[in-house]
Amino acid sequence: MAVPVLPLLFTGFLLLAGAGALRQAVQSPSQPHDLEPLLIQLQPSPTLRPAVSKTPLPTAEDFMRARLDPSAKPTVASSAVNPMPLASASSTPGAPSPSVSPTLEPQALPSGPLPLQQLHAEAIVVDAHIDTPLKMVESNIGLAGNNAEVDIPKLRAGGVDVVIFSIFVSPYRYAKVACSQADFMIKNLKQQVTANNKQIQLAYSFGDIQRIHEQGKIAGIIGLEGADPLEGKLTNLDYFYKQGVRYIGLTWSTHTALADSSSGAPKWNGLSPLGKQVVQRMNELGMVIDVSHLSDKSFYDVIKTSKAPVMASHSSARALQPSPRNLNDDMLRNLAKNGGVVGAIFYPPFLAKGPTSTQTVVDHIDHMVKVAGIGAVGLGSDFDGLDIKPPVGLENASKFPNITAELRKRGYSDEDIRKVLGGNLMRVFEQVLR
Ligand SMILES: [Zn+2]
Repeated sequence: MAVPVLPLLFTGFLLLAGAGALRQAVQSPSQPHDLEPLLIQLQPSPTLRPAVSKTPLPTAEDFMRARLDPSAKPTVASSAVNPMPLASASSTPGAPSPSVSPTLEPQALPSGPLPLQQLHAEAIVVDAHIDTPLKMVESNIGLAGNNAEVDIPKLRAGGVDVVIFSIFVSPYRYAKVACSQADFMIKNLKQQVTANNKQIQLAYSFGDIQRIHEQGKIAGIIGLEGADPLEGKLTNLDYFYKQGVRYIGLTWSTHTALADSSSGAPKWNGLSPLGKQVVQRMNELGMVIDVSHLSDKSFYDVIKTSKAPVMASHSSARALQPSPRNLNDDMLRNLAKNGGVVGAIFYPPFLAKGPTSTQTVVDHIDHMVKVAGIGAVGLGSDFDGLDIKPPVGLENASKFPNITAELRKRGYSDEDIRKVLGGNLMRVFEQVLR
């Protein structure tokens, strides 16, 4: 089935970020989610050009014109070309985290582009991967307020508009009851969302996301991290679709009946025959296929098989940090060709060998933008699934404005910042979620 590329118009809805500097995220050790370690070198690309900023204060129509174009060239300028002083947003690697404030200082902004706070508030911010559903059942916490990395006040303070709630069922702990454990977690998530339905609602289509966003609420999408809950049955795919699941990662860190994961010796040499059927059926149903955690061969098999754009919900650049959980440059280019998007992960071992910060995450974003294009990169924090402290400056979901500040500092145009913050993932949702 061919998938037309529809232009997406921004609705330019203004979300007022709640203040409140939320400090330290609580690190409660759950199962180690992602493992592996590297180093960063950010080189200015010869193809870079300065961001062009025309109108000092764009009108609503300007936002409406902010069309998403996956093939557009990045408009990244090196900060040497276009220095943009920013006070609180930059953080020093290794510095203590509580000093980093999510609130940005408008008076420190250069004239030309939108004030940072306004840009961030008006942009649609999408986090493609959070593990809060696991935290909710393990630590018996809710969404209204908790000491984990994601809750509604933190999402509000971070200007986050759309989140993908990952349902993670450990294949070690629930191998025989993966389907019912996923049911339990989905039910719990729905109860939590219903209890807070003035602030957040679940979305099952692109239209839902738009409607919920226009109502000033956060839109949540349900996804499965690892296809273990399918228990090897194609019929269970339709079952979970009916439960509201709109995105599935074919594996977590162990192989499934569908595909090889990025860990261990291959079992299927990529996608299994059932995996191919699942990918095709997900295309038919209108579900997003997640390629994070897949082996390289599985990744290429999915790209070959899927007729719709896919997503690497939480991965980064292998060129900067050699982990099999990250995408190499060829994979990034293939993902872009597919119309897909990679959500930059905040998990320190996938980012660098030493201390990590907002800058380290943006180093990966920079690299992926240079290789795959400005239309192929988004954000996928993995909050509440990290088994160690997040990067300095990105301690929890309230800190997303620091990404915006760092992108601005590096000379990204407002339009390109919007794409990375969520515009690109919104395009995928528009193309896939019906
Ligand atoms: Zn993961």
